[in-house]
Amino acid sequence: MTQNLVQAAYIVAAVLFVLSLAGLSKHESAKQGNAFGVTGMALALAATVWGVLDRSAHPLTTFLLIAVAMAVGGAIGLWRARVVEMTQMPELVAMLHSFVGLAAVLVGINSFLTEGDSADTVHGVEVFLGVFIGAVTFTGSIVAFLKLSARIKSSPLMLPARHWLNLAALVVSALLLVWFVQSHSIIPLLLMTVIALAFGWHLVASIGGGDMPVVVSMLNSYSGWAAAAAGFMLGNDLLIVTGALVGSSGAILSYIMCKAMNRSFVSVIAGGFGQEVSLGEDKDYGEHRETIAADVAELLRDASSVVITPGYGMAVAQAQYPVAELTSQLRKKGVNVRFGIHPVAGRLPGHMNVLLAEAKVPYDIVLEMDEINGDLSDTDVVLVIGANDTVNPSAAEDPGSPIAGMPVLEVWKARNVVVFKRSMATGYAGVQNPLFFKENSQMLFGDAKERVEDIIKAL
Ligand code: NDP
Repeated sequence: MTQNLVQAAYIVAAVLFVLSLAGLSKHESAKQGNAFGVTGMALALAATVWGVLDRSAHPLTTFLLIAVAMAVGGAIGLWRARVVEMTQMPELVAMLHSFVGLAAVLVGINSFLTEGDSADTVHGVEVFLGVFIGAVTFTGSIVAFLKLSARIKSSPLMLPARHWLNLAALVVSALLLVWFVQSHSIIPLLLMTVIALAFGWHLVASIGGGDMPVVVSMLNSYSGWAAAAAGFMLGNDLLIVTGALVGSSGAILSYIMCKAMNRSFVSVIAGGFGQEVSLGEDKDYGEHRETIAADVAELLRDASSVVITPGYGMAVAQAQYPVAELTSQLRKKGVNVRFGIHPVAGRLPGHMNVLLAEAKVPYDIVLEMDEINGDLSDTDVVLVIGANDTVNPSAAEDPGSPIAGMPVLEVWKARNVVVFKRSMATGYAGVQNPLFFKENSQMLFGDAKERVEDIIKAL
């Protein structure tokens, strides 16, 4: 009876997760989507604990163990969630993905140790694949965490014959699977774990900074498959469903990111598609022009159309609030203000949308890159707030650039461009930006939040 009720609760939780994903796909319904997700997860946890206690020979000890584990895990989670800065979210997400991978490895090895020889071939394959996906996700996510938090350089690791190394890792792992299924020995399982750990590390290390968004969404997907694999190993249907939902939605997101960056999905899966590249450092782009807040205010006063293209620097400066205030002031004066959002702006898919929604910028003036690009040539002023790679013309003009082929916001087509940043430093991909040297561009140096506030004062 209890197990039937648990299964029923799992179905309700699975439906809530589907509703949650559907809600999260639109600004307007995102909060509701979150609420569905939280309710689904609370139900799933309660049902799982109940189901485990019902089957346990020592329910009290089991309950205490689970309670202690949940209290410790929950306390760490709460603490991290409270102290994390919005700009550290991407690395936190990468770190959380690594935990899912590690959990799948531990569940797999535990499952082998407890069932060992009695396990059938299908279960053996489940364990082997689960550990493989988990190990790749674990080290891949750690490298992503290190790159996103700038603890290691974001440039691609270019080992000679790196694609052959990847292929060899896959072929040897496949052979080890055959050995494992035939022998039921732990040696091939452990050997594969070591190879998969190195494979995950290498896969992500060989990808350059500009291509990291695809890696982040792919690791998101891998963590889902790792959870689904853990679900198979534990015989937990809800974990299989949840893992598959995360895995497939992550795969769809990877596809969207690949399309946004004009990359092939297959070459991303193969890892390390960064080629020999030129960062454009030695080229002479001429002189840049500087401006001051009062002059930008003047420019805006005379403008009838303004487009704001935010990037990672807006998140660092937390400039979204004054940007929202500036937008509302200009709109009151009858200026047509819109936002142009690049799909990989910031450090997380949807990063800019979250910040602008937080500052209550109306959704209907926040447009995607494809929706705004056609209008830029007819725009009086573009304000580039802490964006760099996503407005870099060399993506279109320099075939040797690491970001070559990536569609960008074509802000240089506007009559005037004002770039808000603190220095002439490059963006995340490490590429020099010829936009800063164009005749219609002016640099407004300083912290983006302070500069926008100066403009509001001057207005
Ligand atoms: P970039 O990272 O290219 O550039 C951000 C710019 O902001 C920097 O050049 C920096 O210049 C400036 N900046 C930093 N702090 C401040 C501040 N306080 N005030 C003003 N300016 C500041 O940003 P984009 O958003 O254009 O591009 C995103 C990049 O990140 C792309 O290469 C993308 O591929 C990558 N990426 C995206 C992910 C995603 O999912 N969206 C995930 C991982 C990577 P300065 O130091 O001179 O101030």
